[in-house]
Amino acid sequence: MSVKPPMGPVCARCPVVLGASCCEVKEGEQLATLTRSDVERIAAHTGLAPRRFVTEEYLTEEEAAGYETRRPLYRGYFRRGPVRLTLAIRAGACVFHEKGRGCGLPGDVRPVACRLYPFERWPDGSWSVQVGRYGDLAEARAGGSACLAVEEAGSMDEVLSAFATTREAVERLGALLAEEAGAHGRG
Ligand code: SF4
Ligand code: SF4
Repeated sequence: MSVKPPMGPVCARCPVVLGASCCEVKEGEQLATLTRSDVERIAAHTGLAPRRFVTEEYLTEEEAAGYETRRPLYRGYFRRGPVRLTLAIRAGACVFHEKGRGCGLPGDVRPVACRLYPFERWPDGSWSVQVGRYGDLAEARAGGSACLAVEEAGSMDEVLSAFATTREAVERLGALLAEEAGAHGRG
C-alpha cells in the first residue's frame, strides 16, 4: 500500500511550482529515517549493498530521546543506540531520486516514512502534517521545506485527497512504521 502514488499529479507539479520536492535537500538537511526493514526491502529489490544508499547520523542520547518523544511512531527505534539511519544524498537529492521523474523505487519498496510523508502522528495521538503551511506559494518557495499538497489544501481531507488516500490508509501505514521502528530497536 502506498500513500503517495508514484509521481501523482501534485508530486509531479511540486518541483516546478516550489523549486524542489521533498526528495531534494539543502545543505545540512537530512532525508527520511530508515528502519532495518526498509533497508532489507530496498537491498533485495535493487541488489545494492546498504552502504550504497544508507547514511548513519550519530545523535546524542538526549537528541534520540527527543526524536522518539516528538515522533511516537518511532518509539523504541533508538533502543540499541542513538544512531539514525537515513537515505544517502547525492548531488543534493536522495540517491534514488531521478530528476524530473521523482522516486526511482516502486511504491511498495520505498521507505515507509517516504510513503507516509507528509502525514505525521503527533505525541497526543492525532494525525496532521509534518510541514507548516505558508499560505502563499511565493513564500513557500522562498521558505523551503514546503509541500505543495499542504499549500494548496484547505483542510486535512483535501490533503488526503491530493494523495488519493484515506485516513484509514494513513493509519495502517503508521501502524506498519511503528511496528518496523520497534523491531529496528530490538535488533
Ligand atoms: S526513497 Fe524515493 S521517495 Fe524516499 S526520499 Fe528517496 S527518492 Fe524520495
Ligand atoms: S513535498 Fe509534498 S507535494 Fe511535494 S513531492 Fe513531497 S509529498 Fe509531493
